[in-house]
Amino acid sequence: MDLSTATEADLRELAAQGAASLGDATALELLQWTEDTFGRDFIVASNMQDGVLVHLATQVHPGVDVLFLDTGYHFAETIGTRDAVEAVYGVNIVNARAEASVAEQDAAEGKDLFAREPNRCCALRKVAPLKKSLAGYKAWVTGIRRVEAPTRANAPLISFDDAFGLVKINPIAAWSDEDMAAYIDKHSILVNPLVDEGYPSIGCAPCTTKPAPGSDPRSGRWAGNSKTECGLHAS
Ligand code: SF4
Repeated sequence: MDLSTATEADLRELAAQGAASLGDATALELLQWTEDTFGRDFIVASNMQDGVLVHLATQVHPGVDVLFLDTGYHFAETIGTRDAVEAVYGVNIVNARAEASVAEQDAAEGKDLFAREPNRCCALRKVAPLKKSLAGYKAWVTGIRRVEAPTRANAPLISFDDAFGLVKINPIAAWSDEDMAAYIDKHSILVNPLVDEGYPSIGCAPCTTKPAPGSDPRSGRWAGNSKTECGLHAS
């Protein structure tokens, strides 16, 4: 198929075919299918919690494009991990940024929008930049896992992403925390130093706290607020 002229119906068909034929595929098999199907037309998203997904993707596509949502609110450790991932794994980091800087947003919307209207803040600083960046691709690969939160329990391996209009592949959706730890250990994968400080799920600094022991790993995100997702991944 000539992807440059692929319609939404074509992409839906590709997603359906992939999902039907790769129902019990490994992460590397899913990524190989992604490479074989989309070549240069896919991008890997990473929140820079660790380099597992990026490392996996480079096994099938050295120098792959890696999307990072540079919201302007990240921990210094996350920015450092992004830079280290770029250098160590030799990937092409694509920084997706909002139209307005944090200062410009403060001036236009009032200071600390994240504290008053986190959904609007995420829409401006995450969803809109992601949509703009993904417009240049036919597929995106994410690192979401089913065990991360109830909202992700049914995450498919391959689907058509209605929100962003392209194919979505979740190669490690079925991975447990033990699978992640084993891969990190085996391949000496880069990990954001905040993980060892007790942050199992890392997002923007103002909206990330350490979860209580034994609780949902994502419960430290937007703690005290009913919000549980950025709006990037439909539940
Ligand atoms: Fe804004 Fe918080 Fe969303 Fe980051 S996670 S974009 S700071 S509301």
